[in-house]
Amino acid sequence: GEAITVADLAQKLALKGGDVVKALFKMGVMATITQSIDHDTAVLVTEELGHKAVRADADDAETELLAHAEEITGEQEQRPPVVTIMGHVDHGKTSLLDYIRRTKIASGEAGGITQHIGAYHVETDKGVISFLDTPGHAAFTQMRARGAKLTDIVVLVVAADDGVMPQTKEAIQHAKSAGVPLIVAINKIDKSDADPMRVKNELLESEVVAEDFGGDTQMVELSAKTGAGVDDLLDAISLQAEVLELKAPVNGRAAGVVIESALDKGRGPVATVLVQQGTLEKGDYLVCGVQYGRVRALFDETGSQVQSAGPSIPVQVLGLSGVPDAGDDFVVVADERLAKDVAQQRDAKRRESRLVAAAGNRMEDIMAQM
Ligand code: GDP
Ligand code: MG
Repeated sequence: GEAITVADLAQKLALKGGDVVKALFKMGVMATITQSIDHDTAVLVTEELGHKAVRADADDAETELLAHAEEITGEQEQRPPVVTIMGHVDHGKTSLLDYIRRTKIASGEAGGITQHIGAYHVETDKGVISFLDTPGHAAFTQMRARGAKLTDIVVLVVAADDGVMPQTKEAIQHAKSAGVPLIVAINKIDKSDADPMRVKNELLESEVVAEDFGGDTQMVELSAKTGAGVDDLLDAISLQAEVLELKAPVNGRAAGVVIESALDKGRGPVATVLVQQGTLEKGDYLVCGVQYGRVRALFDETGSQVQSAGPSIPVQVLGLSGVPDAGDDFVVVADERLAKDVAQQRDAKRRESRLVAAAGNRMEDIMAQM
């Protein structure tokens, strides 16, 4: 079943958040107001509170939105892989992303990209690959906690002169629990004390087994400094993507996720989004978290204006009513009225649940003193 936050459940039952927390407490479930409980627990506590649990219909605007969402599901076509680079600090994540960005993005202007953008895509002779530049593991975990499955493949960077370290293991756990396949980039092979064999041996402990050890994890030896082996990594990614048979509808209204956002002095709210299905076009109306708007302009990672962006392609969007949160979904809708309705309804809901949450926090304080 699906999960619901204690605050949302309380709101549906027209009860104080604290009352639901208390009832859960009596049932032996420790949950704060902002935490989610699973469907079965929600039904139990609802009945415990003397209510009958009936699955409520979505609000009007959301229902209309869902009907629209069904219109997006056109014919499935192959789409590029979306890759996140993870690994222990100083093992070379940023260097690798920079090397790929510097050497592989076809930019009209010499010198190309100066501004930072949270994602970019490259064209290789084996196809397009998109990279997410997530600021560390925390962002990855947070996105996942919000239900956003962004990444198809994790590239795990391990420095050949340092070997498997705590954050290497942490990244392996993240990838495993997200069900995302790993490719290991054994980095810094240009260094005299590089020992790729040691890395492969140490990875065995985490049950990540190289192909030449009889396992099924691709491992590529490379240097983010000299660029040696980087093309092999891109090949490995394309090969893994083929195995995954990644697909999405290309035609029709776009939907996807916000990667990062900011308020730009001159341009207003700017959101970098990853299109996950459909094609986002200039002029489209969209809902984005509690924000809405009409796409005034789209920019790629080189700062060039583009007319549209299809599945797995990151793009900067201008024209939103406000700054959405990273991890928010976006979806294109038919007209401004619906976009505005959904956004405003969500905003009102969010405010309400904040009020309930505040009440619940006080309840927690009281209970903490008991
Ligand atoms: P991050 O913390 O994983 O993002 O690591 P960085 O990319 O910031 O790299 C940490 C340090 O290692 C920097 O001083 C890089 O210049 C250096 N470095 C990264 N990759 C290589 C490499 O392939 N060879 C060598 N010799 N140094 C590297
Ligand atoms: Mg870094």
